[in-house]
Amino acid sequence: MLFATAALRSNLGRPWILATLTAIAVALLLSAGSYMLVKHALEQSEAEQMNARGERFLDRLEQIFGQLREGVDQLAAQPSRQCDAPMLAALNQVGFDYRFVFEAAFVNGNQPCSSRPGRATADLDRPPDIEGPTYKYWLNTSTEPNDNLAALMLGRGNFRVSTSRGHLTDVVDLSDNGSLLVLLDKGQRAVPVLGPPQVWPPTRNWPPSSGDALTITADRLIYRMSTKSPDYQLVLITPRINLMARLNSPLWLLFPASLLIAIFSGWSVLVLVRQRRTLNGELQGALRRGEIRVLYQPIFDLSSRRCVGAEALVRWRRPDGTLTSPDLFIPLAENTGLIREITDFVLQQLLEQLGQVLRANPHLYISVNLAACDVMEPRIGTVVGQLLDLYRVSPRQIAFEVTERGLIDVVPARENLQSLRDLGHQVLIDDFGTGYCSLAYLQTLPVDCLKIDKAFIDALGHDAASSGVAPHIIRMAHALDLKVIAEGIESEAQAILLGSEGVNYGQGWLFAQALNSRQFSELVTRGRRKKIGRRVEDEA
Ligand code: C2E
Ligand code: CA
Ligand code: CA
Repeated sequence: MLFATAALRSNLGRPWILATLTAIAVALLLSAGSYMLVKHALEQSEAEQMNARGERFLDRLEQIFGQLREGVDQLAAQPSRQCDAPMLAALNQVGFDYRFVFEAAFVNGNQPCSSRPGRATADLDRPPDIEGPTYKYWLNTSTEPNDNLAALMLGRGNFRVSTSRGHLTDVVDLSDNGSLLVLLDKGQRAVPVLGPPQVWPPTRNWPPSSGDALTITADRLIYRMSTKSPDYQLVLITPRINLMARLNSPLWLLFPASLLIAIFSGWSVLVLVRQRRTLNGELQGALRRGEIRVLYQPIFDLSSRRCVGAEALVRWRRPDGTLTSPDLFIPLAENTGLIREITDFVLQQLLEQLGQVLRANPHLYISVNLAACDVMEPRIGTVVGQLLDLYRVSPRQIAFEVTERGLIDVVPARENLQSLRDLGHQVLIDDFGTGYCSLAYLQTLPVDCLKIDKAFIDALGHDAASSGVAPHIIRMAHALDLKVIAEGIESEAQAILLGSEGVNYGQGWLFAQALNSRQFSELVTRGRRKKIGRRVEDEA
């Protein structure tokens, strides 16, 4: 089990395996997404087509039924009630006036009288399929696939008018295997008028509770049409078109596009992982070759403008002179764990370079940035303890900066920070205000000082929305008895404003950029000399 996990982890670490897995995952995700999208789009267009067809259909059928009704009404209105010349003239007139009337007839006992003698449709002695108060309907008067036979017949009294299969198929463009059904007995019975018979009811929950005209099942589209007559309804059923058969939709282009995106993602992962690997390898080499240097950005007392300490900041200058920003390589080192080596290196360098200045200026301190993993382990206390013994520097002169991100796992963080404080170090919260630290949470943390993030200092006097944040943080810090350092001060106006708000210390390009150890030592010594000079002048 252990072996399998280790093998899996080492394989997952291989760039090309990671890239392939990414490509597969992206391809699967995008293809599934594309399939759903295509399916949805096709279903929608299928439903729209069916709705449009249904409406067109109903319109035309109403037209046919309307003509049949008008024709039979016209016959009922004329006075003749026997098969005489005026009757035959009236029957022929109806056949002539109404395009959809195939045959008009008068039925009286065994004496059929028709506009199409010899057709014998009108003498159908079957009881009507629908018997309304005024009209009677016979469906499927002929089941023969002959377009020149009556298919629907309407009766009023002794009069009959019919429409032919041909007329029906003319107005109804049924798809293959589609059917037009007439629903009788409140939907209980369905008589196919065109197309093959269909199983009825078409679904288990018929009629559907939703009032929608269209019902979609796995293999059929069922379109209900209520007619102007309360006696019957019409239903159009067509089989669904296989999705795969509709490959002509431009949406199918999504699939090759997904594949391309998947390949591109895999390739990007490959490049990124390789780049990170290279950067990480380079960083390790840089540490060994001494390309990493430590600079010190002075921190000043805002009221006396005296340098009280500095923040140690790493720089990576490559042999060709290019500088790589810590914002780029520190997060990478945090991920790979190389940050521990960097933290140890910073501590070792600063004590080696500034040990003497620190011994000569017992109030001076240097603060060191800690990464989340430095805060989670008790290791730093031991490392710094040994170095402080070696260089005979007081723990008070080394402070540690932790960001709110480094405090996520609160229990070990609190324990380790407390033991650093117990040793005599100061603990600062860096970039305060950018994370999630609440007042209540802050109260429980063993810290001495808050560093207000540069973004809030920049906003002072500019951005109305966030310019209120710095004063708020300052009040909060004071309420908790914490000191405040403002970082990124670039103008005198900011320094004055912050000083008046009660901020104790400041750091930024207004005072000094990050200096090398020699420049920083000179700044400190110059400051001391000035002070001693001033004291001598005062005494004189
Ligand atoms: P940070 O700890 O917030 O450091 C302050 C950053 O603001 C530094 O950038 C500094 O040069 C810059 N800065 C200071 N004053 C001004 C100013 O007036 N204007 C402007 N525009 N910038 C100012 P830097 O040195 O590039 O460091 C960037 C970040 O890299 C640091 O942010 C810190 O999070 C990280 N970092 C640097 N050195 C170390 C280190 O030794 N260990 C760890 N864990 N992180 C480090
Ligand atoms: Ca910092
Ligand atoms: Ca900061």
